[in-house]
Amino acid sequence: MQHQSSSCLSCLTSKGCGSVLTTSGNVEMDAIVMDGKTLASGAVSAVRNIANPVQLARLVMEKTTHTCLTAHGANQFALAMGVPEVPQESLITEYSRMRWEKNLAPDANPVECQMGKMGTVGAVAVDIEGNVACATSTGGILNKMEGRVGDTPCIGCGGFADNQVGAVSTTGHGEAIMKVTLARLILFHMEQGQSPEVASDMGLAYMKSRVQGLAGVVTVDPQGQWAARFTSSQMAWAAAQKDTLHYGLYTGEHFTQSLDEP
Ligand code: ASP
Repeated sequence: MQHQSSSCLSCLTSKGCGSVLTTSGNVEMDAIVMDGKTLASGAVSAVRNIANPVQLARLVMEKTTHTCLTAHGANQFALAMGVPEVPQESLITEYSRMRWEKNLAPDANPVECQMGKMGTVGAVAVDIEGNVACATSTGGILNKMEGRVGDTPCIGCGGFADNQVGAVSTTGHGEAIMKVTLARLILFHMEQGQSPEVASDMGLAYMKSRVQGLAGVVTVDPQGQWAARFTSSQMAWAAAQKDTLHYGLYTGEHFTQSLDEP
């Protein structure tokens, strides 16, 4: 959703913390990055003590012949690449701790705890040459077992990018997203001639009716058309296009702001 002159991958590797915790209270992160020009991708799953899992995923893409490294092996690779390990505490926010405690409470409603409060960050980008890319990182879903890997690092599920069609990054219930390979499904509809918005809605509607799963996506095509769509009750989204920032949270919201304003 951004235009820039060089590789659009560079804007997709931002820092993040505050993801959900495993049932034992640990941070285990999954991430993926994909380059639509070459279809190269890199992913990590169940990594601990890493501040920027998307950057580690990018190193998997650029420095190995593999597409996904997991758990201890991914952490060993991080060490070999000089990516510093950070204390787990630095990745846990007060809010994520509060959600974890609330979710463990005997009267917790797992659906209420999960929906609309997910900690996944996803991005898609397109540059002036029509190169697209996607990146997604997450701590997973509330109540997840140690070692659970969701949709995020799975190619075609947590994200997909192809210069010939577009790029998608997804968030939502991973087990349901994987059943319908949501990112690739949306790109399939775009290949059939649908716009990013209609294709996103079609993929999300199929996921809802077929497996009763809720999700959200950001989608872009090589011409710079984009969409932020969701079936969950809310999804914080923003898009930067030319000199305008677009953003919203609840269904139907679409605010704009000039990026030239001080
Ligand atoms: N899709 C992520 C997962 O299932 C969670 C999320 O997007 O909030 O791991």
